[in-house]
Amino acid sequence: MKLIINNCLKNNQWLNLTNFIQVLFKQNCILCTSATKSKLGLCSDCLNELPYSPTSSCPQCGLSSNGLMCGSCLNSPPDFDSTHAVLIYAFPIDAMMQRYKYSSMLHLSQMFGQLLAQRINLDNVDLIIPMPMHPARLKERGFNQALEIAKILTKNNKEKLDYRRSIRQKLTPPQASLQFKERVKNIKGAFQVNRDLTGKRVAIVDDVMTTGASLNELAKTLKKAGASHVECWVVARTLPLK
Ligand SMILES: [Zn+2]
Ligand SMILES: [Zn+2]
Repeated sequence: MKLIINNCLKNNQWLNLTNFIQVLFKQNCILCTSATKSKLGLCSDCLNELPYSPTSSCPQCGLSSNGLMCGSCLNSPPDFDSTHAVLIYAFPIDAMMQRYKYSSMLHLSQMFGQLLAQRINLDNVDLIIPMPMHPARLKERGFNQALEIAKILTKNNKEKLDYRRSIRQKLTPPQASLQFKERVKNIKGAFQVNRDLTGKRVAIVDDVMTTGASLNELAKTLKKAGASHVECWVVARTLPLK
């Protein structure tokens, strides 16, 4: 599979091409184009080869550990209570995510949403809040990638989705271009929650968790608004650089 995808990536046309094929035939794997009946759009081989997050990760931050709380969370606990990540942000998810966000390949939200649905428990929370996007960014991109994934998760529980009352009031430079300390400083005060969340259990949905600075700042804001418990539900988690 890797050989096929690498060849396709080399000419930078694989997803455009496979998207076209998928639209035409509806039953082809997004990655290798072989026939599949899976609703995820991936054949069983490609599905099995995805870089899944280890199940033994730290329950609070989602980074690799023996399944117990990691040292970092013990020393300096984040504002969110748990993290559920389906995948590691590595090949081919990184390439797919880039195309999802920057080439408007919205159909990939189906696959990301369905994969995430397998790792989370909707009954565990009262509300699901997608990571808000600043209006200027939304205008630029045309859609909020976290909201599209959250819509898939809440397809049969629409009353749990709340994407209007948590807003991003500060336009910040893309977090990817910043170091951890800068990210924390940069994102401070970025969110506003316009509802009382007293006693509510909330899940924040996002596409990728890198340092967790944005998720942490939003979790802090949600807790200030009264939330009793905040979970991070993310499609992919980056691993720290060694
Ligand atoms: Zn495949
Ligand atoms: Zn941890």
